[in-house]
Amino acid sequence: MRRIGDPILLREIFRGRIWVARPATVVRDDSRLIAAYLAPGMRWKRPVDSATGERMRMPATSWRLQDAVWERSRWLQLFEPGVAHAIHLWWSVPEWRFAGWYVNLQEPFRRSALGLNYMDHMLDIVVDPDLSWRWKDEDELDEAVSIGLVTQAWADEVRREGERVIERLEARSSPFCDGWESWHPDPSWPVPELPVGWDKVPR
Ligand code: MG
Repeated sequence: MRRIGDPILLREIFRGRIWVARPATVVRDDSRLIAAYLAPGMRWKRPVDSATGERMRMPATSWRLQDAVWERSRWLQLFEPGVAHAIHLWWSVPEWRFAGWYVNLQEPFRRSALGLNYMDHMLDIVVDPDLSWRWKDEDELDEAVSIGLVTQAWADEVRREGERVIERLEARSSPFCDGWESWHPDPSWPVPELPVGWDKVPR
């Protein structure tokens, strides 16, 4: 378990290779929940097509990692052990206006020495501050099935996981009733950086 304020590395890993790497700060880490804060200004790695250098939505062709700086929002991610999603919150920059929730369907996280490893499952749910919601990137999941990246059965299970979160959301159960919208980071926390070894993937 990490302590509040410690660095934590969040990585998406596809078939043994890094797809995305982001540095974050621990907000909470216990047996029920890991909360990680991603501050504006943090430098992260994102995938681009090896041949064209274009941004990529899914690992369908070969990719390389490109440096990027996160500026768009203040971003909190909530991870529960053993479940195939994380729940995110966004606030605007520079003012602190709560912009809503986001359900990121993804693998259950695995702990590594530096942080958490998982892979994104493409389909997402955008949730407004009033808890109205809509699916996002359904086309991306359909495309992944059509090109044979994943199976239809796999895609169906991703959608069922999303439906389970929607039930919790509509029941206003945790974490949607826990007051995370008014959370603020400790102003003394530095913007986290990718740690030494961020690019080493355990076998
Ligand atoms: Mg996603």
